[in-house]
Amino acid sequence: MFDSFEMKPQACPACGYLMDRSAPITGTASPEEGDVSICFHCSAINLFDAAGALHLASDEELRLLQEHRGKWATIVEAQRLIRTKL
Ligand SMILES: [Zn+2]
Repeated sequence: MFDSFEMKPQACPACGYLMDRSAPITGTASPEEGDVSICFHCSAINLFDAAGALHLASDEELRLLQEHRGKWATIVEAQRLIRTKL
């Protein structure tokens, strides 16, 4: 299992699931602006803003993530694990 951090409690922009913890897949730092958050409930791809708030990734943001093949592969694998509930 991953280490996890407390985060500003907020609802997933996609499904409304209340999140109050974040677990990094790579690295150990707490979330920074532009970091990806994958909802543990619906596996939506969200992004942190500078204030730590999440928004659903836009089509353009998804396109940029897909250009980083290693990062995109990690995201897709994380979604697969969430959908099968780890
Ligand atoms: Zn969600």
